[in-house]
Amino acid sequence: MSTVAAYAAPAPKAPLERTTIERRAVGAHDVLIDIKFAGICHSDIHQVNEGWGEGIFPMVPGHEIAGVVAEVGSEVTKYAVGDRVGVGCMVDSCRECEYCLRGLEQYCAKGNIQTYNAVDHNGDVTYGGYSKQIVVDENYVVRIPDALPLDVAAPLLCAGITLYAPLKHWGVAPGKKVAIVGLGGLGHMGVKIARALGAEVTVLSQSLRKKDDGLKLGAHDYRATNDPETFRELAGKFDVIVSTVSAPLDFSAYLSLLRTEGAMVNVGAPEESISVNLFSLIVGRKTLAGSMIGGIAETQEMLDFCAEHGLGAEIELIDADQINVAYDRVQSSDVRYRFVIDTATI
Ligand code: NAP
Ligand code: ZN
Repeated sequence: MSTVAAYAAPAPKAPLERTTIERRAVGAHDVLIDIKFAGICHSDIHQVNEGWGEGIFPMVPGHEIAGVVAEVGSEVTKYAVGDRVGVGCMVDSCRECEYCLRGLEQYCAKGNIQTYNAVDHNGDVTYGGYSKQIVVDENYVVRIPDALPLDVAAPLLCAGITLYAPLKHWGVAPGKKVAIVGLGGLGHMGVKIARALGAEVTVLSQSLRKKDDGLKLGAHDYRATNDPETFRELAGKFDVIVSTVSAPLDFSAYLSLLRTEGAMVNVGAPEESISVNLFSLIVGRKTLAGSMIGGIAETQEMLDFCAEHGLGAEIELIDADQINVAYDRVQSSDVRYRFVIDTATI
């Protein structure tokens, strides 16, 4: 066991404060990582606020972790001290169900072990990346290519893979028309990745406030959803729409933007339920789907793809004592486009 500095929410909805946590001793298959940077995902805020259900407190959030290997267990074969590595949203799974065997560990039949706010197989509560070190089984660690600086790579571990996986699964490629709803942490990576996959990309944002940014990130078009004309002009246009919005949407309106047989994929995870008029699916044989992060091998594939295409996140690097300010700004959609904590300041 080792004692490690961290930032934790002591109770639901409480501001995060500096504390210490215990990390397990490095086991035979474990890697000890010196965390250098940790992204702030909107999911961290949903969980601190118990918006998705009861949480485990104190809670150390953070599942966009980039760092350097400091120690390896006796049986570790994949990593060596000094390697640049990342950890995303899960740190284990059952490893034997059909989904784990297919590289879909995120959909493990017994449930994956989340990086924080979960209980590990050994009974320990998991603590996330807002901390100086983490111990993770080597099979749930990925390699960050040298071409990607660690700070802009950190958000790829959640925001990057959460967009890469559905864009690939729903066949985004040259000739496809894709809309990304919401230009935040996930959305801006969606624009970059969909563009790099060769698609024609439109951003659907609440207003035109961030239009210049959206076009620079690679979007071909940028429309405001507070303008009813947007829904008239773009009716029936898209093969795939990915919503990254953290609040409920009028799904029937967005489904009207799909071509026949198009798919709207929801990665945004609002705290409230939604209702949908099913005729907006029936007419046009449309799909309304969801998608959760991505498997370990696919996360590695995404990092290699991002390195090859020069894609990192657009980040605002903050000191740890700014975490609570950053939470407020994310909740008011005032983020361009991911806050990343410099863990040297913890
Ligand atoms: P974020 O940075 O806050 O981005 C969300 C964006 O949604 C905002 O920038 C805003 O974009 C738009 N938005 C916010 N409130 C809205 C409202 N009331 N109506 C319409 N649009 C609104 O958050 P994020 O970190 O990208 O995460 C987005 C969501 O995805 C969260 O719910 C998060 O928990 C979830 N998530 C899911 C997965 C998964 O595996 N499925 C993984 C990570 C995160 P504009 O200003 O451009 O309108
Ligand atoms: Zn996340």
